Amino acid sequence: MGTLKLAIQKSGRLFDNSQNLIQSSGIEIVSKNVALKTKAKNYPLEIYYLRNSDIPKYINNGVVDIGIVGQNLLFERNNDLEVIQKLGFSKCRLSLAVPQNIKYESLQFFDGKKIATSYPNSLKKFLNQHKINAKIHQISGSVEISPGIGLADGVCDLVSTGFTLSQNRLKEVEIIMNSEAVIARSSNIKPEIQSIIDDFVFRTSAVLKAKNKKYILFNVKNDHLDKIISILPGLESPSIQPLAKQHWNSVQAVINESRFWDILTKIKKYGAKDILVMPIEKIIP
Ligand code: AMP
Repeated sequence: MGTLKLAIQKSGRLFDNSQNLIQSSGIEIVSKNVALKTKAKNYPLEIYYLRNSDIPKYINNGVVDIGIVGQNLLFERNNDLEVIQKLGFSKCRLSLAVPQNIKYESLQFFDGKKIATSYPNSLKKFLNQHKINAKIHQISGSVEISPGIGLADGVCDLVSTGFTLSQNRLKEVEIIMNSEAVIARSSNIKPEIQSIIDDFVFRTSAVLKAKNKKYILFNVKNDHLDKIISILPGLESPSIQPLAKQHWNSVQAVINESRFWDILTKIKKYGAKDILVMPIEKIIP
């Protein structure tokens, strides 16, 4: 049996979530403090800790089989590696921003202007696509300060909350692409490695499905049951079991964390009692 080679970012925004995903998938990593590479104790897996910007290259030339990277990086590197799973973390957008005091009306604003960015290829593709003729000023960090110091008229940068932009008195005016962390794979995978990839993705899917979901369990009287059922989703539908106490039922359901408080308020209104809320570790459909 072979060993799956997985690349993850060695430090930075993707590191913690990548490491947590592997561990939540039941894979024990031998040592987390190694310079380049480590392996799993209980799974045929080697982990390569690489610079984020190098990961697409190593997947492409087959040094590793799969890697966890931001979609935006694949776009920047013009890399059409196959994405086998979206991971739902490091969500951000590659956007254009201009000083807050500019009256921005359309993309034509950027015609003949200078835009600072660390993502020149993505920006170039976008500008060409929209036939905008702007000058690209490539810098490797602190892009947001460049309009303030007169280096550029606008910036093209990754944004998540928008806080950094507003701190630098910039406003987001166009979204070039949305991005999140993904697992990308090499095009040249041996069959015995493919079966490990399938199992690995099966495990990570179970973990990702459970994320942001809660299991709730409570008791409710018969006369409110129909109302309660209409409020609650479930994986299929809520489970209802009669209690030993007459006219009462135990209800169980899986709900999205985003709707949690809304649902809680409603079921309480219809007499839900003894409400238990639990995290879910994995969901296997
Ligand atoms: P970094 O650790 O800053 O090199 O970023 C690594 C990856 O995290 C990038 O390629 C993006 O996919 C993602 N990322 C970068 N900036 C942000 C941000 N502000 N919010 C969320 N994700 C980001």
